[in-house]
Amino acid sequence: MLAIWKKYRSIPLISRIAVAFVLGSILGLIFGQSITVLKPLGDLFVRLLKMIIIPIVLFTLIAGMRKLTPSKLGQVGVQTVVLYIITTAIAIVFGLLVANLIEPGVGMTLPGNAEIQTKEAPDIVQVFMNIVPKNPIGALAEGNVLQTIFIAIVFGLSLAILQENADGKIKKGVETIFNVVETGAEAMFKIVWGVMEYGVIGVFALMASVFGQTGVDAIVPFGKLILSLTLAVALHITITYLFIIIMGLVGKSPISFLKGIKDAMLTALSIRSSSGTLPVTMSDADENLRINEEIFSFSLPLGATINMDGTAMYQGVAAIFAANLIGESLTIAQQLTVLLTSVLASVGTAGVPGSGLIMLTMVLTQLGLPLSVVGFVAGVDPILDRLRTMNNVTGDLAVTTLVAKWNDAIDFTTGIWTADDN
Ligand code: ASP
Repeated sequence: MLAIWKKYRSIPLISRIAVAFVLGSILGLIFGQSITVLKPLGDLFVRLLKMIIIPIVLFTLIAGMRKLTPSKLGQVGVQTVVLYIITTAIAIVFGLLVANLIEPGVGMTLPGNAEIQTKEAPDIVQVFMNIVPKNPIGALAEGNVLQTIFIAIVFGLSLAILQENADGKIKKGVETIFNVVETGAEAMFKIVWGVMEYGVIGVFALMASVFGQTGVDAIVPFGKLILSLTLAVALHITITYLFIIIMGLVGKSPISFLKGIKDAMLTALSIRSSSGTLPVTMSDADENLRINEEIFSFSLPLGATINMDGTAMYQGVAAIFAANLIGESLTIAQQLTVLLTSVLASVGTAGVPGSGLIMLTMVLTQLGLPLSVVGFVAGVDPILDRLRTMNNVTGDLAVTTLVAKWNDAIDFTTGIWTADDN
């Protein structure tokens, strides 16, 4: 028994999870609805990951402030946000291009009008205002990531200032707090590792229940829509992240980069939430990509909340799909509207499962397209959402790698980077 366990553990974790992913999907298709009894096992995995989001953001970000001076924080912040916005805009263009070519909704008709709850495009002032918590403890307790980032930065910065200026007891106290949060961050990464061991079962159960529920018959008619998004995601990841950012701007091998982030990509595919994947994303940045904590502790939680390239791209694809369904096509002006609304909406939407579908109500309303499309695609959304989320997480990591390189905060001499020195 022990020998089997040892053998099992000797297989790399990521390979075990990948096998669980494929096996779960296949068994789901074979056994159908009955296999959904396994769903709680999958939900447990998601809960475990969610449990560590707030502490990991808080600990790593405060610890990161030890080395980050206010001016550096400003520089890193501007670089990160600008890159996030540019890459999101490019993603939407890819989505629109592919969907214009494939025309995913041609040949289908829209079934009767389902009642859909719409959501207004977020008010930009309110989006910014909401970053400041009314009550810090409340923000932590609710698990609001943006507000937690704000608290951690403000607290961390004040500690950093005290570290410079105070002396005696206060200085010692500051050191202690920094030591505690650094240790806390390391402990969190250990927990991530443990949770991922359970992830083998969790991912298996999640995939089995998804395919058990959707079944292959439900997927086929939406083949072109799934294909369009898959193609757009593949293009964006390959061209924008791998070639332009990693090879062109960072000057490193895309293969090494992909090797370093595969846990995060696979987790995103399995759990459909970039916030939920955050602990794994951070652990990949720390242990594989060798990025300094002061950069990723800031850029990754921020990315998980405001940078959603896959989600924004999906708005482009789905808008064209919706227009096709009613026998129309989108004008250039309408496609520009998609671009602007999606960039804005992706900043204001949380990285949780299905939020992209809610965003779609905003985009369709803006364009005057039938909202019943949302109900129509909801059935296959669990599949589309995986692709979007995987893209979202990859984008956060690509931008973070570039910002780290620009700020000399990445160690290319160790970890996955040593495999190839080009
Ligand atoms: N599930 C996605 C995410 O967490 C958001 C979406 O629904 O597109 O990143």
